[in-house]
Amino acid sequence: MSYEPARFDFSQPIRIDLYSDTRTRPSRAMKQAMVEAEMGDEQAGSDPSVWALCDYSAKLLGKEAAMFLPSGTMCNQVAIATHTRPGDEILAHEDAHIQSSEAGAPGAISGVLIRGLPGERGIFTADTLREAIRPVSRYSPPQTLVEVEQTANKGGGACWSVAGLQSVADVAHAHGMKVHMDGARLMNAAIALGVPASDIAASCDTVWLDFTKGLGAPLGAVLAGSRSFIGEAWRWKQRLGGAMRQGGMNAAACLYSLQHNIDRLAEDHANAAALARGMAQIPGITVEMPETNLVFFDIRGTGLTVPEFAARLRPHGVAVSSTDAYRGRACLHLDVSAAMVEEALGIMRTVVAG
Ligand SMILES: *Cc1c(COP(=O)(O)O)cnc(C)c1O
Repeated sequence: MSYEPARFDFSQPIRIDLYSDTRTRPSRAMKQAMVEAEMGDEQAGSDPSVWALCDYSAKLLGKEAAMFLPSGTMCNQVAIATHTRPGDEILAHEDAHIQSSEAGAPGAISGVLIRGLPGERGIFTADTLREAIRPVSRYSPPQTLVEVEQTANKGGGACWSVAGLQSVADVAHAHGMKVHMDGARLMNAAIALGVPASDIAASCDTVWLDFTKGLGAPLGAVLAGSRSFIGEAWRWKQRLGGAMRQGGMNAAACLYSLQHNIDRLAEDHANAAALARGMAQIPGITVEMPETNLVFFDIRGTGLTVPEFAARLRPHGVAVSSTDAYRGRACLHLDVSAAMVEEALGIMRTVVAG
């Protein structure tokens, strides 16, 4: 078995890439910021651009300190490793990215169990959390961490409300658990809810956000928390190979994205709504109405599977992704314009009819 990704067919370029919001390319202005970045040795504390990004991010997220890491997956794993000990149990939604999409890392790296909680659109309630709390005994795994995903990716890009987070965090804290937010798309939630990211993350002990989703940077994520948490987390950053050298070049792109690409996420949400409305009118497709930039749809009624639908779109230069045979996902981001959404809809109508 090879797990290496198949090589892309470069003879068939994708023009309208709805596959993922990770598919953005750095803009000319972002690349300029990278070229001009001051650099040093990140793991020795001498890269000024990385410090600038960490300070800016900590403030944005309302935490004392932050660390720069190569990916969101590493933010989750550094946070889990720092918050827990082997044998502990994490409580998270059953569709959480840490459960389904990080190659078993919480078990492999931290030796922890994950208990998946049910809940509509990737979100669970304080009552559901309360019901999953085990008696403290010699037999039970220690439950030390609750994880929430903002926005809930497989939940259709749904947003946790500030009140919902607060009530879950209150239960967690009352039982001595910490709360960690996978904020891969936290800024999408901040824009959709009209609430500062720091208010959304206020009830969470740790939070990270990804620069390679809708923010449009080529690499990087930032993990934030208390100064003592970040201080301890540095050993895991080093241990996992996440301590970098001239990280400033990438940090400059990330800082650029925070300074230029947050407010425009509203355009992605408007484009997602337009795509959803249009797709809902195609016979055989049902659409989960989006709250943010992710549009999930069910294609069963067309007689096609999502991979078949995707294969028909591909020669037209359009890409979508699938979560299972009949549930697909289209993502909006800064490289997809309103005009491209209209064009994609026309192509979708044609390939479903044909
Ligand atoms: C993309 C994603 C991650 C992982 O981020 P990478 O930067 O790709 O490692 C984690 N959680 C959620 C919800 C995501 O969508």
